[in-house]
Amino acid sequence: MADCLFCRIVDKQLPAKIVHEDADTVTFEDVNPQAPTHVLVIPRKHIATTNDLAPEDDALVGKMYRAAAEVAKQRGIAETGWRTVMNANSDAGQLVFHIHLHVLGGRRMRWPPG
Ligand code: AMP
Ligand code: ZN
Repeated sequence: MADCLFCRIVDKQLPAKIVHEDADTVTFEDVNPQAPTHVLVIPRKHIATTNDLAPEDDALVGKMYRAAAEVAKQRGIAETGWRTVMNANSDAGQLVFHIHLHVLGGRRMRWPPG
């Protein structure tokens, strides 16, 4: 989608600090990090919200989690602990309507989230 911020990052039309890429996903640093590690894992395919996942996306979501775990290991937070978050729509605070898995770690997290 031409007017989607994260599609533009996938297409390299918008710069991002990319930390991991494979055939189906791109992972980059969040511009406004909320923890020492805060990266976003996105699918190359445009999917607006978690509500829009189709059966054909089942494997893609698994790949997103595996990319997240790969980065957690690279960053040395796999054992200390890390969190994944995927916000959907307004009550959750979704601002970018191309699904993205937040990967947060490197500090103690609170629960429940605010
Ligand atoms: P959400 O509120 O779940 O939609 O999260 C959107 C996230 O995208 C926020 O954490 C932003 O800081 C991050 N973000 C927005 N624009 C960019 C960008 N150009 N590059 C990297 N991260 C971004
Ligand atoms: Zn998109």
